[in-house]
Formats: sequence, C-alpha cells, structure tokens
Amino acid sequence: MIKGIKGVKDILPDQIDRWLLIENSARRYARLYGFREIRLPIFEVTDLFARSIGATTDIVEKEMYTFADRDGTSLTLRPEGTAGAVRSYIEHNLGASPLPQKLFYLGPMFRHERPQAGRLRQFHQFGVELLGVAAPEADAEVLSLLWRFFHALSLPGLTLELNTLGETEDRPRYKKVLRDFLETKKSAICANCQRRLETNPLRVLDCKVPGCREATADAPSIIDHISPRAREHFEEVKAGLSAVNIPFSLNPRLVRGLDYYTSTTFEVTCTHLGAQNAVGAGGRYDGLVEVLGGGPTPAIGFAVGLERIALLLPGDLVPQPSPSLYVAGFGRDGTRAAYPLLDSLRQAGVEATCDYRSTTLKAHLRQADRLHCSHTLIIGDDEATKGMAILRNMVSKVQEEIPFSSLVNDVAARLLKV
Ligand code: ATP
Ligand code: MG
Repeated sequence: MIKGIKGVKDILPDQIDRWLLIENSARRYARLYGFREIRLPIFEVTDLFARSIGATTDIVEKEMYTFADRDGTSLTLRPEGTAGAVRSYIEHNLGASPLPQKLFYLGPMFRHERPQAGRLRQFHQFGVELLGVAAPEADAEVLSLLWRFFHALSLPGLTLELNTLGETEDRPRYKKVLRDFLETKKSAICANCQRRLETNPLRVLDCKVPGCREATADAPSIIDHISPRAREHFEEVKAGLSAVNIPFSLNPRLVRGLDYYTSTTFEVTCTHLGAQNAVGAGGRYDGLVEVLGGGPTPAIGFAVGLERIALLLPGDLVPQPSPSLYVAGFGRDGTRAAYPLLDSLRQAGVEATCDYRSTTLKAHLRQADRLHCSHTLIIGDDEATKGMAILRNMVSKVQEEIPFSSLVNDVAARLLKV
C-alpha cells in the first residue's frame, strides 16, 4: 500500500467544517480591514526565498523543498507567503495603485521539519501584507486584525508579544553589542548558537534550548540600542493598540527567525499548545521590496498557522451539519417516482442523497441513519400510486404525508428554515 508522506496530512471530511470556519473567518476579517485576496503560486525560483528569507535562517539552511526543473532551474515549494507576495507586488507594479496595497492569502506552505503535533511538512497559513505605508497606525491596524481574528474564534490562552528590532541602520550596532556579550557566554550556549554567534547573533535570543535561554537572560536589550525615531515609532504602535483595547506584552527577546524583519515584530503564543506554542507571527519588513528589486517600500505583515488554530478551536464553535434529506425510493414505481423528486429537491437547495443499492425500506432507513441524515423521504409503490410521500424525522421518528404536488416547497420549507 502506498501511504501519504510523513508530516503531510489529509484533511478528512469530518474535519472540513472546522477548516471552513477558520478559512471563512480569515477571509471575513481580512476584508473587514480592507485587505484583498491574492492567490500566489506554490512554487517559485529558489533564489526568491534564499534572497528574502536569509541564508542563515532555519528555513533556508535546512527546511526548503528544493528541486531542479527539467532545464536545471532550481525551484522551491514555498515555505512562506511573504516572498511570493512581494515578488508579485513588484512584477505587477501594484505600487502604482493607491497605497497601501493590502493583500491577504490562504494556502499550503512546505518546510522540511521534524513532524509532531502542530508541526507539519505541508501546513497552511493565512497571511496578510500591507505595503507602501510606514506609519505606526499601519502596524496597529495589522495587529488589530490579527488579534480580532483570533478573538472571534474564541481561542483560549493567547498572548500578543511585541518587540521592535529598530531600523536597519541600528542593526550592526546592536549586533556588535550582543556579540560582545555572547562571547562572554560562549561556553554556556549550544553548538548551534556558537555558530549563530558568528553568522546571525540575534538568532541566539530565539533559541529554545534551556541552557541558551539561561545564558542570555540578561543579554542587552535591543530597545536600548535603537534610534530615537525607531523608539518613537514603537511608542505609537503601542499607543495605537491601547487605544482600541488590544492587550499585549513586551518581549525584548522576540527577534523572529527571518532576516527581512525590521522595526515592529510580534508573535501570538498560546499556553495550550505545548512546545509548538506560536499560532501566528509577523512584523515590519521595510527593506524587503528593495532587496527583491522594487523601489523603497515600507511594509508589514503576519502569517498564522491554520493547523494550530484547528487544534485550539472550541468544538462548540464548529457548526452542526445542516439538515439533510435521504430519499428512499423502493419498488418499481416508487424508485421511478423518487428519481425526479430528488432532482427537484436538489435544485430547490435541499441537500439530498440516496442509495441506489437499497431495495427495501428497512435497508434505506438503516443507510439514512448511517449517513446522519436528519430526514428521510419515503416513496414506495403505494406512495407513488397515491401521489403522496412520507417525510420521516430521523430523530423524533415523527412521520407526515406530503402530496407530490407541493412536495418540493413543503420539504424545502421544513429543512431550509433551520
Ligand atoms: P516556529 O517557531 O513554530 O517554528 P516559525 O517562526 O518558523 O514558527 P513562521 O515562519 O513565523 O513560523 O510562521 C507563522 C506561523 O505558521 C507560525 O506561528 C505557526 O503557527 C505556523 N507554522 C510554522 N511552521 C509550521 C509547521 N511546520 N507546521 C505547522 N504550522 C507551522
Ligand atoms: Mg520554524
């Protein structure tokens, strides 16, 4: 038997209502905040991700699904959505339209990681990107959307963590201060971090190894090493959140794993998720459009992981399946009469099904129960002769007779009103 790939999951029909709820909520909230959907390709040239995400990040170092096209071009399954969105923004000159351009996307992402609960190799993200506006109000708007979206789904135990990385020009100064500090802790940090110390010292703050967290507990804070302008921006973002009562907590260690972030960074964590506790994250990436060949364009965005939301979603929020009808036609005339009625009912918007193999009423009713249909329409030879069908409520077992002449309207009225 051929099995699915490790870390790549099927989403089975029983889970679909949960997923639709999340996806519909994402679309609804994105639109409420003025974002428009963009659908981007699932694969791009490798260089796009290597250039934007950064060579020393986990994603580019070890998580990308990269393969050679038939002509030798290196292609990669997208590990995240921002790079593709920015490529598209530049390629289609979206910056010529009114700014900000507010885009959102939903879809699968691919990373070669060690699969575990809430960590897959194919997973799904909802993400937004706001391009062309540097004002702190834009940060607050994106953060509000993120928070309100989670709130609408009643996800428990969430915290919005906030930090700033300052401007690009602040980075080398802080890197030096941090590197000097880390040199004094070199023997206490993990081998990975010893390497990061040289290549990307900020990432040491991001390391989950307890020894590294301990060693860096009193590391110099980035906030003390950024320009007054960057600090003021951050103050205004915080004020913007407070003005609409969005709670947040400051986390000076929050550096995020991708190179393109500047200024405001954030992550929403959940106390109910164990080790994989981030449900969403993002930040400003004011330099990325230029890195990818566009004009100077400030931008900010986030991405949330839909699998982790699905794990957290309270079950009672997931809608019950809508009432559905099983049409039980049996006997020669009954079967013949049931067929066009089934078609008319479907055209009237009633979700209806049947089983062509069943030939007795008993077999039909058993099948209707198995399919969890709320009602069964019974049409045997007698009913066909009389021009009447019997509508049976499968829960209360109450039955009523309905003439064929008004059947579509009557059944639709009973099933669709709920
Ligand atoms: P983590 O620290 O969990 O590895 P990350 O920083 O790599 O997360 P981002 O690139 O910021 O994650 O992606 C945004 C969100 O996408 C995460 O907060 C998470 O909810 C989700 N996500 C990331 N990687 C995976 C994965 N392999 N499987 C499922 N969800 C994921
Ligand atoms: Mg990761």
